[in-house]
Amino acid sequence: MKTIKKTIAEVARELEGAANILILSHENPDGDAIGSSIGLALGLREFGKNVVLANSTGVPERISWLEGAKEFVTQLPPLRGFDTILLLDCAERERTGFDLSGVPEERFISIDHHPNTVGVGRKVLIDTQAAATGELVLEILLEMAVRVDAKIATALYVALHTDTGGFNYSNTSRMTHMSASILIDRGVDPAAVHKHLFGNERFERVALLGKVLSTLTMELDGRVATCVVTMEMLDEVGASPEDSDDFVNYPRSIRGVEVAALLKEREEGVFRVSLRANTGVNLSLVAKKLGGGGHKKAAGATITATSLEEAKKIILASLEEALGGAAS
Ligand code: AMP
Ligand code: MN
Ligand code: MN
Repeated sequence: MKTIKKTIAEVARELEGAANILILSHENPDGDAIGSSIGLALGLREFGKNVVLANSTGVPERISWLEGAKEFVTQLPPLRGFDTILLLDCAERERTGFDLSGVPEERFISIDHHPNTVGVGRKVLIDTQAAATGELVLEILLEMAVRVDAKIATALYVALHTDTGGFNYSNTSRMTHMSASILIDRGVDPAAVHKHLFGNERFERVALLGKVLSTLTMELDGRVATCVVTMEMLDEVGASPEDSDDFVNYPRSIRGVEVAALLKEREEGVFRVSLRANTGVNLSLVAKKLGGGGHKKAAGATITATSLEEAKKIILASLEEALGGAAS
């Protein structure tokens, strides 16, 4: 904890010294990637910094109502003008979906909370105890004595809310609630945020849920539950790939299930898998072996396979290996 506090102070000092800052986050961003990016950008501007926001896949519709969401560019701007490139909610160049291979390490600072990640930059802040990157961003802004206003606070609250499943997952800590309490104090309206996130569904998304739930299967003696999303299903109801983002919570909620897997066909032969654990199995390692990454209880990867069936086989084989014989 002490070293994290020290690193937070060091990152704050680095940012105080920076002038032109590009903020990047992981591709297929979630509320934490976008919320922490916006929160930090607005905060740094209070400090007179020039800040540009980019994300290779852009802002998902669910959080497009956040102030600042329209600012994101999806093309990498020319890097010459930036003394600092911040990686948020990821700590590796590749996770941004941009080609940053030739950029010197000293230009980067990474702020993240994922385990099993290397970290790139002249300063690397990876705190796996933090429930969300937004929690770390709040600490940095407070350390810099930035006036956290309602816009900043709402972006960071969305970050916390998303990564903790509305303050419900096991990563939710006393610290998470303390951070939320500070954010509410600065003007967040929790009920309004919840309504934006979960009380404002498009018809197409709920229609897609119906199709996806009809694919539910139990595997490995009931230890694993799966659902699939095909491109055909998206077409049939007019939904977009991101519409299924949190559907994995349905197979996860089944009694006795240790791991839930949601398979999403992205293009011919390319599948994304979202993995969620209810027990101690380490999905971060499972996902890493599949070429992805994530947390112990929530991880993902993109895999190639000739068919959905083959993709499922690959994933189930990895899960079988990870779960081993003993039920936990
Ligand atoms: P998702 O299932 O897409 O919601 O992802 C769950 C968690 O795993 C999130 O924290 C993601 O950032 C992380 N994750 C998903 N896909 C990847 C990947 N390809 N590489 C590294 N981390 C990932
Ligand atoms: Mn994320
Ligand atoms: Mn996160």
